[in-house]
Amino acid sequence: MGFMSVLSFAHKLTEGRLSSGGLAIDATVGTGSDTLFLARTAGPRGGVYGFDIQPAALELAEERLRLAREEATAALSPVTLLQQSHAAMAEDVPPGWRGTVSAVMFNLGYLPTGDADKTIITEPASTLAALQAALALLRPGGIITAVLYPGHAGGGSEAAAVEAWAAGLAQQEAQSIVYRQLQRASAPYVVAVEKKKGADQSWQ
Ligand code: SAM
Repeated sequence: MGFMSVLSFAHKLTEGRLSSGGLAIDATVGTGSDTLFLARTAGPRGGVYGFDIQPAALELAEERLRLAREEATAALSPVTLLQQSHAAMAEDVPPGWRGTVSAVMFNLGYLPTGDADKTIITEPASTLAALQAALALLRPGGIITAVLYPGHAGGGSEAAAVEAWAAGLAQQEAQSIVYRQLQRASAPYVVAVEKKKGADQSWQ
């Protein structure tokens, strides 16, 4: 049977915490598959923000969302896509979202299309800034998922930085886990962080 793929695992963790009417953020929109997943899960009464630095990615995502809306007009959340680094997340989402977001998804690395420039990758400094901002935006019980790709140049150090960040969070504020195939060091894996229910939000 095999274990769940890393993408399915990230979706599974998110589905358990993002319900109809909830708020969610796709920190790395890419082709928009996670954005669409979040918009479907949060439904028409929810809300989704998406970030990517590449116009080509946002165009692909817009098209994916447009086609999905044609199929089921009322089923998706309103989605705001921004050509902006996820490091600016805290300033770019509405102030009222702080402490109320149920899920933030990161899928790091490069845009996975044939003609994409694969030298445009997520970078540790902005990724860590975005993760910290995401944690502040989460509601207690909300989740951050990060799919990490140690197999490409620069991906290993970024994955290690994310893992170290998650491992260093205070246990009373958040719980962090890793989902990883142990025999293939270069295989993608997931780090997930759940904000503790009783977390004191003033520390962020
Ligand atoms: N989840 C996406 C999908 O379904 O296609 C895949 C995301 S792809 C692996 C990573 C994306 O992160 C790329 O589209 C890239 O342009 C974007 N990216 C790189 N640096 C970024 C940054 N600082 N802020 C936001 N997005 C960034």
